[in-house]
Amino acid sequence: MAASLPGELKGRVALVTGSTDGIGLAVARGLAAQGCAVMLNGFGEPDQVAALCDELATAHGVEVAHDGADLRQEDEAAGLVQRVLQRFGRLDVLVNNAGTQHKGPVEEHPPQRWREVFALNLDAPFHTIRTALPGMRANGWGRIVNVASVYGLAGGVDRSSYVASKHGLVGLTKAVALETATTAITCNAVCPGDVSTRIFYRNAKLLAEREQITRAEAQQRIAATNMPSGRVVSPEQVAALVVFLCSEAAAEIRGAALPVDGAWLAR
Ligand code: NAD
Repeated sequence: MAASLPGELKGRVALVTGSTDGIGLAVARGLAAQGCAVMLNGFGEPDQVAALCDELATAHGVEVAHDGADLRQEDEAAGLVQRVLQRFGRLDVLVNNAGTQHKGPVEEHPPQRWREVFALNLDAPFHTIRTALPGMRANGWGRIVNVASVYGLAGGVDRSSYVASKHGLVGLTKAVALETATTAITCNAVCPGDVSTRIFYRNAKLLAEREQITRAEAQQRIAATNMPSGRVVSPEQVAALVVFLCSEAAAEIRGAALPVDGAWLAR
């Protein structure tokens, strides 16, 4: 069986949280390219978000809409799924991608920020999953992919809420996979290392200016900090794995937490 067949997801409906930028946008593009209608979510200027919806819809001949729900709010995560169901009549592919982090030692971590990190990284996936699952069960098919992190499988310094919430997300993934194990619904997590999203390029630009080196050298230096490969992962590489997990070829991959990490976790 081919890894994933062109147009394999034709007629399916996907919700990708946090998809106006970064990994989520690459995932939305990947799913749309497979024929999936997509509900985008995330922040952005209305004009730019509207242009993004038009671009994806035109490029792939699918329906694309946007909902700006702030998923730190409990009611918003469940409400977002309800609005997808109202608008598209079904929800087949749920990608919990929106996430945030707070950097600093645990003893200085503001409790309010801890709650915000958990609200977005773990509570929101719980609420989207619990709201989306009944429809998937009724339809007899579903794919849930949670975007965790290498920090969902290993510790790290000065990011306690991120590490704890991403470990929690990997745990939620396993629990949901077991509850759906006899059905055609799968639940998996992807665990990226450092990814070349906007913040990576911004940090590389700042480093280049500070150290008087080229941007390419700065990018290489940042990549080599954590990645044995010496390269960051691209959003498209993460998206390709998510799309594969949504294919029929991946029907028996269940409860997995799959690294895309340039051998970070192999050390
Ligand atoms: P990003 O910051 O580039 O994009 C985040 C997206 O989420 C944007 O569309 C933004 O508008 C949206 N968003 C932010 N707060 C939101 C909220 N409260 N409600 C709804 N949407 C919100 O993010 P990214 O770097 O692409 O990361 C995506 C996911 O991948 C996160 O869960 C992150 O933890 C994980 N991850 C990222 C990296 C990395 O190196 N970038 C590595 C491992 C894991």
